[in-house]
Amino acid sequence: MTIGTGLSRRHLLRAASALAITPALAQARVCVAPPDAGRVTKAVNDAHARFAGLTEGKNADYIPYLAGVPSALFGVAASEPDGAVAEAGDVGYALAIESIAKVFTLALVLRESGPEAVQQKLGTNATGLPFNSVMGVELNHGKPISPLVNAGAMATVSLVQAASPEERWNKIIGNMSRFAGRTLTVNEEVYKSEADTNEHNRGIAMLLKSYGFMYTDPMEACDIYTRECSIAVTTHDLAVMAGTLANGGINPVTKEAVIDPALVPPVLSQMAIEGLYENTGDWMFTVGLPAKSGVGGGLIAVAPGVLGLAAFSPPLDAAGNSVRAQKAVQSVVQALGLNIYAG
Ligand code: GLU
Repeated sequence: MTIGTGLSRRHLLRAASALAITPALAQARVCVAPPDAGRVTKAVNDAHARFAGLTEGKNADYIPYLAGVPSALFGVAASEPDGAVAEAGDVGYALAIESIAKVFTLALVLRESGPEAVQQKLGTNATGLPFNSVMGVELNHGKPISPLVNAGAMATVSLVQAASPEERWNKIIGNMSRFAGRTLTVNEEVYKSEADTNEHNRGIAMLLKSYGFMYTDPMEACDIYTRECSIAVTTHDLAVMAGTLANGGINPVTKEAVIDPALVPPVLSQMAIEGLYENTGDWMFTVGLPAKSGVGGGLIAVAPGVLGLAAFSPPLDAAGNSVRAQKAVQSVVQALGLNIYAG
């Protein structure tokens, strides 16, 4: 990785030893600069080329619309702090954001109500269970535990301060649009397909209400949650949304301050513990970046202060994570040395 003024880590360590200062001190004094644009573009193109032929996994089919999305679609993108976006493949295809929406509505609620309310009313721990688990709710006396599983995400929606469902919805899509840097809309076909088949989520919403962890009408919260999952985004949009989190809450393209920088770490903490469903530990073990996937095949990952990454490909693994998107993001992370635990 290139550090500071364009010197490689090896050069700095050599310079440090010549000056008889410890390598650790030399590194501590140098700010890590984003990799140069050429390396980012190459890493993105290489990741796309490397996994273009991979056909493992299966589209989600419990939402009928998603079963029909062409499985061959594959896009990779990286959003840089100066607003540039490196991209390869089908980055303009409008996919359903699905669970990735949960991240941004959590950011909205953190902004409106603060971290303490989020901890008390939703919980900020890992469930270790599938995203739509009823048992997760029962085992915790009704507390959703994580804002990034379905129960917690519906409770998060219900915490958005609003006098009407319309106001709540407008805040949610308005907030997500600011993260993307453009006006987002719902794919009505996806919404209909989900709304017609979301009995399980409606059951969870009622269960939360019975335990006192649902803060508005449960069917309204479930409906707005279903709508937010049906928002259409491109892989390019997802990269910019992740880039806004990487950039301390400032959208790298529009330069709008979407979220207070102090609220970015709590959001990323949740992605790091629950972002890839019950495989999140494996993801952090092998890749080491806070990330969030959705059953529409999208995946975002955030290298704080450096890059926002996104990839999309519909076929999923058994936990609900896009197989190719995981491989592609991992490839970019390794090529650019972005694992947060590597220092
Ligand atoms: N709308 C989907 C559901 O509630 C989202 C699931 C996901 O992407 O994890 O089942």
